[in-house]
Amino acid sequence: MSELVVGPDGCARCPWGAGSEDYRAYHDFEWGKRVRGDDALFERLTLEAFQSGLSWLTILRKRPLFRAAFGGFRLDRVAEYGQADVARLLSDAGIVRNRAKIEAAIANARAALALPEGLSALLWSYAPAPRPRPLSLADVPAATPESTAMAADLKRRGFRFVGPTTAYALMQAVGMVDDHLAGCHVPAGGELHGESLGDGLNLVGYDPGWPGRFARYRDALAAALGPAALRIDHIGSTAVPGLAAKNVIDVQVVVANDADIPCYRPAVESTGLLLRYREPGWSMFRPVLPPRTHHVHVTSAGSARERVQLLFVDYLRAHDARRDAYAALKADLAERYRDDRLGYTAAKTEFVTETLVLAERWATATGWRVPDVMR
Ligand SMILES: [Zn+2]
Repeated sequence: MSELVVGPDGCARCPWGAGSEDYRAYHDFEWGKRVRGDDALFERLTLEAFQSGLSWLTILRKRPLFRAAFGGFRLDRVAEYGQADVARLLSDAGIVRNRAKIEAAIANARAALALPEGLSALLWSYAPAPRPRPLSLADVPAATPESTAMAADLKRRGFRFVGPTTAYALMQAVGMVDDHLAGCHVPAGGELHGESLGDGLNLVGYDPGWPGRFARYRDALAAALGPAALRIDHIGSTAVPGLAAKNVIDVQVVVANDADIPCYRPAVESTGLLLRYREPGWSMFRPVLPPRTHHVHVTSAGSARERVQLLFVDYLRAHDARRDAYAALKADLAERYRDDRLGYTAAKTEFVTETLVLAERWATATGWRVPDVMR
């Protein structure tokens, strides 16, 4: 008898992925997709280590706060953490406040930086040959000879909190093995978020043609969605004159309830896009084929996501110095994270978080709020 669970959307899933919406999104779009890059793997390794003794759901829900607390999991940054940072992390209720795990994360960053081949190459050297998907949960191992060897090697190189079981959970999560059950709807393989390493990061200077491109995408979406689209806005760096960005226009569509995918998915996809990513509060669509000219983000009216995206852009439009600081940071990070989009995005987290604090103060002082009508 199959253990797969068929959801309300008709998709058969591994049973653990059919529970909460958080698990479903993680199961469908992240778990088992290949992750590469030293900082990206450091994040996964650290979160797996923090998980030991807790449910993964706890870690998953805290992940944005972990990213903020650990500086986007940049190895060079975490490796320099001192006692003041340990104290800061121990008092941060957003993460798991366990001194041994916090100190292990810092020690592991230092150990990772000391690896001649880098963390990603070392971990991937233990990936086993592909095997068929397991037929049932009983066929999924808790550890394997490869994960045991990986854990021993990491320990020898000074890593902590990574035993054979944690190492195997990491191998599953980052796509070194494929432990979706046979029959699960998630396709085998693929890079996380579908970004191939070859895409690279290519920032270009502000293009005065961007607003016009946005207007075309907006009009096409408005025609396809009709009254289901409560508002459609230009968000992200291409919406801020003077800011360099990837040459991709971010469009935010606000609907009554982003979880009600049948209400908007066919209309959005009719404009040549495909649902690419889904997590609670947010669906992301992008063109079926390259060039991937624009991304469409669907969220709910009145949500924090709607507000934050609009506020961020309006704040930067009104504050040239902050905009210029962001431009300088982006240029620096684009150089450092040339082949690592996830690392690039994570590394921007701290600046974005700081900016939002300033923006919220500005919103309070000026009475800024989400505009009532579609622009
Ligand atoms: Zn699955």
